[in-house]
Amino acid sequence: MKKMSLVLLLCLSPCVWGDGLPDLGDVSQAALTPLQERQIGQQSMLQIRASKQYLDDPEVNDYLNQLGYKLVENSPEPGLGFEFFAVNDYSINAFAMPGGFVGVNAGLLLTTKSESELASVLAHEISHVTQHHLARMIEGQQGDSLISMATIAIAILAARTNPQASEAAIVSAQARSIQKQLNYTRSYEEEADRIGLQLLRKSGFDTHAMPEFLERLQNSTRLLEGNAPNYMRTHPITSDRIAEIENRVQNDPYRLIPDSLSFQLVRTKLIAAQKTAPEAIAFFSEALGSQKYGNPIAQRYGLISALLRNNEIAHAAQELSILRKQAKDSPMARNNPMIETLAGQVIRAEKNDAATQAFYRTAVQNFPQHRALIYDYADLLLQDNQAEKAVKLLSDQVGIHPSDTALYDLQARAYEMQGKTLEQHQAQAYSYAWQGNLYAAMEQLEMAKQAGGSFYQLSTIESDLRELREMQDAQGKR
Ligand SMILES: [Zn+2]
Repeated sequence: MKKMSLVLLLCLSPCVWGDGLPDLGDVSQAALTPLQERQIGQQSMLQIRASKQYLDDPEVNDYLNQLGYKLVENSPEPGLGFEFFAVNDYSINAFAMPGGFVGVNAGLLLTTKSESELASVLAHEISHVTQHHLARMIEGQQGDSLISMATIAIAILAARTNPQASEAAIVSAQARSIQKQLNYTRSYEEEADRIGLQLLRKSGFDTHAMPEFLERLQNSTRLLEGNAPNYMRTHPITSDRIAEIENRVQNDPYRLIPDSLSFQLVRTKLIAAQKTAPEAIAFFSEALGSQKYGNPIAQRYGLISALLRNNEIAHAAQELSILRKQAKDSPMARNNPMIETLAGQVIRAEKNDAATQAFYRTAVQNFPQHRALIYDYADLLLQDNQAEKAVKLLSDQVGIHPSDTALYDLQARAYEMQGKTLEQHQAQAYSYAWQGNLYAAMEQLEMAKQAGGSFYQLSTIESDLRELREMQDAQGKR
């Protein structure tokens, strides 16, 4: 198996790709290059992961990426390499960072009433990125001084996520002064709305969803008095702005576009996550009982996962057989990887026998991209002492998702079982590095070095260590 090094994976602070390049850890007053924008975005991502704001659920994140990419395909920069991710925060916010990193709060996902509304928020954020709004604002205010990318990353995070929470993280006056000037201007908002609407239209969503969502936010905020969601602080919503969007969509036909089942299931997950297991059981049972509102497949999905959490396996299995019957009759649900993943969890909780293994082999074949399923199957293989199979399965996935820490954790377990100490600590190091814990990552790499290996392996570890030290220095400069 070909191993990638951290240098290639992260490529954060000084990524020296040729002679004569300036120190890329700093940004001069010249325009930001796409690479620098990407690096600033990466730095911000690491901060988000380190602060535990990152909602580490591959099903929620994969869903956001699927939806986001439907829009990106129709954007002026389809090749930019966007990454959409959920933020574990139930307040209403969504934000874009340079280089294509778009965060969506759990609270915003639950506030949207249709998939088109969620798409309208993503389309607006995508347009801030493709129009390079943040980069233009940073360029406009630097003056003569050099600013480290880490400083910019911190300032952007503070300006975009939760300003109260990140106040403490801003150690330098420089970051603070940049942060204050990063609120989008009216003309940037107008541009993001206009281009966002084009994306929505081209991608087949209901364009009326954009003004409807903003109007609802605006109305709900009137009641909050001074407690406006962060989203409204960073993307000021005025009646003028809404009127302008309404004007732009007035000739578009109203389209009733059914929400995907994944949209419903992801929302179900986020609702359940706010409740204890018994609360969630009561909530979804009641919703199913009343049969008045909502999607019964999503509600039963919520009930089954709550029953599992509460260790009521037999009841969960009972409900699962109902769900699978219902799913068979629904074209949307017949082939849904989230339902398959939940089914696997119930089957595994019941017993682990040859049939369980067979279920996973088939499911992984049917949904080779569904990470949640891969995690569970790899875990099952490791429980069964089939480390080699697990390594093969995980290595393929790491190639596709190089920043997935859960995959590295499973890899480390598999290598440990095989007695491959160098590989074990190296995988653990990558997991820590992507969690933003650079110190722990370096410790693991030192252990990997001590375990010994081929010349090639050891030189990869050396260059990873160098890269991590440089990243830590760059962060120290902020
Ligand atoms: Zn905006």
